[in-house]
Amino acid sequence: MPRRADAAPFAARLLRWFAAARRDLPWRRTRDPWAIWVSEIMLQQTRVEAVRAPYERFLARFPTPASFAAASDDELLVAWRGLGYYRRARLLRDGARAVVAAHDGAVPADAAALAELPGVGAYTSAAVASIAFGLVAVAVDGNVERVVARHRGVRERVDAAPGRRAVRAQAEAWLDAAQPGDFNQAMMELGATVCAPTSPRCGDCPVAADCVARAEGLAAELPRKKPPPAPIDVAARAALVVGPQGALGCRIAAGQPNAGQIELPGPGVLVSVDADGLADVVRERFGARLRLGGVVATVKHAITCHRITLRAHAATASGIGSLQWHPLRDDTPWTTPSRKVFRQALGDDGALRA
Ligand code: SF4
Repeated sequence: MPRRADAAPFAARLLRWFAAARRDLPWRRTRDPWAIWVSEIMLQQTRVEAVRAPYERFLARFPTPASFAAASDDELLVAWRGLGYYRRARLLRDGARAVVAAHDGAVPADAAALAELPGVGAYTSAAVASIAFGLVAVAVDGNVERVVARHRGVRERVDAAPGRRAVRAQAEAWLDAAQPGDFNQAMMELGATVCAPTSPRCGDCPVAADCVARAEGLAAELPRKKPPPAPIDVAARAALVVGPQGALGCRIAAGQPNAGQIELPGPGVLVSVDADGLADVVRERFGARLRLGGVVATVKHAITCHRITLRAHAATASGIGSLQWHPLRDDTPWTTPSRKVFRQALGDDGALRA
């Protein structure tokens, strides 16, 4: 670990670089703690470019914790569309409800009180506390972890306690207490744009002079983590039955990925099935009787480690069992794979393309 005396020069170089290089992002134009909280949740596991439009749309619809606390499940699913990992949205609503119940609807200006809100962990509470309220708290996300591990040559796995502790201690030692929000954002920005996961741009890095990974050629090896699980390929199928009321679909049960959303009839997108088995599965699951035609759409989708190829068969129904008709509208919470199928298979009038 470096000597304490190294802290000020690192933060100074970082903040000087950030003042000149910071991207103009919508959530950087506000100090509203609710807007910053929303952005931090959306940015987890999601690229900046994918967050811009949903962020603006969400805040226009839910400008305060109280407005989102009152959202129905379907409103929540529609508002979060395009971001995936819908559990984040439910936890954000739980957090908003707790703010209404315990803090009169105002996001608390206190890192400890923030951390007690549902869905707000150490990272999010520190990010909101420092960026919105200027409180001294260090926010360690994957970007920060990578910068610290490389710069200080942390060889321990950063997803295990000793490595995690070493990274946090270093980030705390570097933190500029006069500008904690800018410091945290600058660290994240450096990790996102310069010290990237692959091919870090060390030649453009403001803290390259004393970087251990650069000096020792370790950047490609750090940070060390447990290897991710091997991807699982899924050959999924679903039936596309369209009519004047929309398409036949089913609600995904609680506890399943994308719970509460509506998907096309089949065994679910995490289950492989062949064309012959699809009608049987639909009869067993929903009591519906379908006559299947050919494949009218083939779409790709990923959920955690599952790489899904979903083939949709045109179908007609002689009995719909527990399936229901759902409109093909933007405010119907169809799953993303279902929407991809609609875009490929249906014309603007909602009928199958010839
Ligand atoms: S010099 Fe390279 S490896 Fe080191 S912090 Fe900068 S970008 Fe990352």
